[in-house]
This record gives sequence, C-alpha cells and structure tokens, in this order.
Amino acid sequence: MSSTRTLHWFRNDLRLDDNPALSEALRGDELLPVVILDDRFWGTDRWGHVKTGPHRTRFLLESVADLKKAIEELGGSLVIRQGLPEKILPNLMKEWSCLTLTAQAEHTPEEMDIETAVASAVSGVGGSCQWVEGHTLFHPDDLPMDIGDIPDIFTQFRKKVEKHSEVRECIPAPVSLSCPNGLKSDELPSLNSILDRSGQTMPTADSRSVLPFKGGASEARARLKHYFWDTKKLAVYKKTRNGLVGPDYSSKFSPWLAHGCISPRRIASEVYRFEDRIEANDSTYWLVFELIWRDYFRFIAMKFGSRIFHGKALKPESPNRGTQKHPFEAWKDGRTKDAFVNANMRELARTGFMSNRGRQNVASYLVHDLGIDWRLGASWFEHCLLDYDPASNAGNWIYVAGVGNDPRPNRKFDTQRQATMYDGDGKYQTLWSSDALELDIR
Ligand SMILES: Cc1cc2nc3c(=O)[nH]c(=O)nc-3n(C[C@H](O)[C@H](O)[C@H](O)COP(=O)(O)OP(=O)(O)OC[C@H]3O[C@@H](n4cnc5c(N)ncnc54)[C@H](O)[C@@H]3O)c2cc1C
Repeated sequence: MSSTRTLHWFRNDLRLDDNPALSEALRGDELLPVVILDDRFWGTDRWGHVKTGPHRTRFLLESVADLKKAIEELGGSLVIRQGLPEKILPNLMKEWSCLTLTAQAEHTPEEMDIETAVASAVSGVGGSCQWVEGHTLFHPDDLPMDIGDIPDIFTQFRKKVEKHSEVRECIPAPVSLSCPNGLKSDELPSLNSILDRSGQTMPTADSRSVLPFKGGASEARARLKHYFWDTKKLAVYKKTRNGLVGPDYSSKFSPWLAHGCISPRRIASEVYRFEDRIEANDSTYWLVFELIWRDYFRFIAMKFGSRIFHGKALKPESPNRGTQKHPFEAWKDGRTKDAFVNANMRELARTGFMSNRGRQNVASYLVHDLGIDWRLGASWFEHCLLDYDPASNAGNWIYVAGVGNDPRPNRKFDTQRQATMYDGDGKYQTLWSSDALELDIR
C-alpha cells in the first residue's frame, strides 16, 4: 500500500486537462478517481421541479463516460457511485486507505453544505479534505481586491482585473495515471434508470436544436476546434453573439464549462493563440469579456452567500412578486400572449438550451410583465438548462429582476421591440412555433 494515495472526487470538473484540484491529487503516488451521481441532483425543489431534467442528465452521463474513457486510456480506472457523497466518500477512503481527498471548491450554499458534510465524515475516518479553486478564469487569490470589496458594477470589476490580474497558465493533462492495484472502473448507470427514479422520461432529440450538445471533454475540445480554428467564427463573435438560430452565432461553450469539461483558462489560452496566429479584434476580446462576466457572478456569489437566492436578494426594499401557478405555467409551457417569449420557452424545454438574448427576454417577461417571483423562473431554468450553474443562473436572474447588486433598478425588456430587432424576419419564431416540430431550417 502506498502512503500517499489520494482520492480525487470529480465534481463540476469532469476533465483531466487544466484541473488544479486533480493536479493537487497527483502530487501523491497513487490516485483514486471518483465520480458520484448525487441523489440530490434528482431531488425536487420547493417549487416542485426535479432539479436535473432529462437533457442535463444525459449530458452529465456522457461527460462521465468520456472522463472514464480518458482515465482508462492513461492506465487508470474510475469509481462511479450513486448516492450521497458524505456516505460514499469516507467508505471509499477507508476501503482504499486514502488519507487525503481533493475536490474542486464550490461557493454556493447547497454545494458548500455538501462540502461541510463530506469534510466532517472524512475527518471521522481520519482523513482530510483539500478544496481547490478551479472554476474561474481568474484565481480568487489573484484578484486586485478582497472578495468583500468586489464592485457592484461589473465594468468597474472588469477594468480592475484586466489591469491588475493575470490569468494563470493552464496545467497540462497528465500523461499517465497510477491507480491502486485491483481497482476496476464501474459501469455507468443507464440514462433511463436514473430518469425512472425521478419519474422523468427522455424526450426524442429535436432536430431544431442549435447543436446536438454531447457531453465530455473530448466534445468540448472538438467544439472549440470547430468554432475557433475550422470555421474561425471567433473572429466575428461580437457581431453574431445576439443571434437566435443555428450552431455558430455564439460559442455554445456553456454546457461544457458548467460541467467542467473544459476550463475557462484553456478557452482563454486558445483565444490568445488565435490572436497571435490569425487575428486579434473586438470579437476575440469579447469572448474573454464574457468569461469575465461568468467569473463576476461567481465572485458575487462568494461575496453575498445565500442572499442572492432570496426573493428580494440584495434589494430588500423591492416590491413583492407573486407565485401564481397559472401565469407561471403558461410562461413555462410557452403559452403566453408573447410569441417571442413562447418560442424561446419551447426551445428551452425541448433542447435544454436558449440564447442569451432569449434568456434576458423571457426572464424580464416573467418578472416585469407577469409579476412573478424570479425564483420560479430560475428553478425552471435549473431543471431545463444544459449549462445550469448556480452562480450564473441566480446572478443573471437577480440582475434582470432588478434585485441584484447593480444599482440601476429597471431591467425591463420590451420583448416586442426585441423580437423586431433580433428576429425581424420571424425566422426564429417560425422555427419554434408549436406546429413546426418537424421543420429543420438551419
Ligand atoms: C436569466 C439568465 C439565466 C442564465 N443562466 C445561466 C446558467 O445557469 N449557466 C450559464 O452558464 N449561463 C447562464 N446565463 C448566461 C448566458 O445566457 C449563457 O452563458 C450563454 O447564453 C451561453 O451560451 P454560449 O456558451 O454560446 O455563450 P457565449 O456568448 O459564447 O459566451 C461565452 C461564455 O461566456 C460565459 N457567459 C456569457 N454570458 C454570460 C452571462 N451573462 N453570465 C455568465 N456567463 C456568461 C458563458 O460561460 C459562455 O459559455 C444566464 C443568462 C440569463 C439572462
């Protein structure tokens, strides 16, 4: 038995490349790589929605399958379990004589509660945990301000980090893995078995989806290669990013980023390489700019803790909003009076994706036109989205609802005007009109 055998618990870091927590684990002699399909992922939230819907469940399983293959190609094996991490992890540590557990640090309340439970259970078997930052472009220690001093206005934050902080170098993927003798990979449970347990079924794939969105680090790399190098769409990203139809109006990296199949640093380093080799322009800058938005919401979650998940979030003086079932259900099912909102809601339910332009409009409509509490909308997004991320989701919702840290109060979108501006020819609304199921006009 090796004295330095480390259990690495893969959470939202389902990759080998540029994985700081994994690289900490690899300082030991042997690695016990573990994925847990946490029962809580398929629990029901206070609004009655199963937290992880079928689209993200599929994406998650594909991502784990891809990770397993990558680990096996390097001579290792992956332990895959279903249940509660705080029960499973200490048992595995005992069984395989691991003293240390490494995992990516999370900063939102539910995820941190799980960390606390795991840390306590692991110390109960004489082990210790190391929580490592790995989710953001800028390491929290490299920010030019304390987390408590993150500015309330994004632009102020961005200017400061752009001036004073540097993105750390990517950590290359390991070239081989040494796992304990006798360790064998587990089989992945089937998609249907997981969905059955939460009373869900997988809808048939919709040919109108902007992309097939297959999970996994190898798919993330393929998407990056396509968007940057094969089509050079990165060079026009800023002009196309408000699009609604087709695979390439934006990067579509978000589902892979949310599951950690690719790191934001790897994406940024490829942007810099593109700028060196092809061209540097507004568009190449803007993709990194958007990754800074992603960081910003994560740091805001760190700064304000559970407050960003409250109805009035950071604006206690804001008006009460309703939770009426009827208008909410109409919004959710794409049956409102607004055809543009409806088209977006149908796309979300059928594919697990919606453009940023769409998300802003449907969120504004729910809160400002229908007068509904933003948390119901955020809960439905959590159920549906392939790219669900607690900090980005709550952060964007409270921003649009006008209850975030941003001082400007009114974030209402005129959805009719937006439809004219961004879908002037009605192509998107036609694509997602209820009777166009079999159309494929990409
Ligand atoms: C109400 C609402 C809820 C949202 N919920 C989520 C969520 O749960 N998970 C999520 O990843 N994004 C969320 N977003 C942000 C944004 O809509 C998606 O990140 C984006 O549409 C993903 O498409 P893309 O990868 O093609 O983005 P691109 O335009 O190609 O941008 C590149 C990357 O930058 C990041 N990014 C871009 N815009 C934002 C933003 N506004 N906030 C945070 N990161 C951003 C994403 O990681 C994205 O993949 C939400 C936005 C709104 C308005």
